[in-house]
Amino acid sequence: SKNGVVGAADVDRLVNLFPPCMRQLHTHLRQDGHLRHQGRLQYWLFLKGIGMPVEEALTFWRKAFYRLTDDQFQKQYAYNLRHSYGIEGNRTNYTPFSCMKIITRTPPGPGEHHGCPFRHNQGDTLRGHILSRTSDKAVVNEIMALAKEQHYQLACTRLFEVTQAAVSASARATGLPEPGAADADAGSAAAIITHPNQWFDLVRGAQE
Ligand code: SF4
Repeated sequence: SKNGVVGAADVDRLVNLFPPCMRQLHTHLRQDGHLRHQGRLQYWLFLKGIGMPVEEALTFWRKAFYRLTDDQFQKQYAYNLRHSYGIEGNRTNYTPFSCMKIITRTPPGPGEHHGCPFRHNQGDTLRGHILSRTSDKAVVNEIMALAKEQHYQLACTRLFEVTQAAVSASARATGLPEPGAADADAGSAAAIITHPNQWFDLVRGAQE
């Protein structure tokens, strides 16, 4: 990515910095070559929010839906995608969904992968998300318990802190400059995750 622009080819590299709700959508998109309507909407607005312009979005989604012909993609998806960027239709410029919106919208049904894993995927799927970031049993249990007690965003914030620490450590290991102490404070103790794009911005800040 250059000048904060996220290109279609950048996403697979950046996905490790995404919150669980978006990693989940990305994983299923890659597995199935498809996402259903609610998942598409949640994920493409997130990608828009991290800096993906509409031309890159059209490229990204065209390639991701590899089973479709160009004609099918144009007819079924390209218009809606441009619409979500405010280019078609009533020109509403749709903004990426907040955690509250994702948590309270229609829950995912069979074959759907949208929503918030802390709210909608408690159990092995959520445990897998946490284990991908830490093997510390106490932390895993703490986050699972927060989710069970319906403190979804607090649970996510704890996972965010673990993720950010891991990303900072790997940045140090690869010789990148460490974030200053003030930056580290701003990114951890003070922040409660209320938006998936906030998670990404803070973790990316820790990496740089
Ligand atoms: Fe995504 Fe927000 Fe749920 Fe975290 S709390 S997984 S950022 S919707």
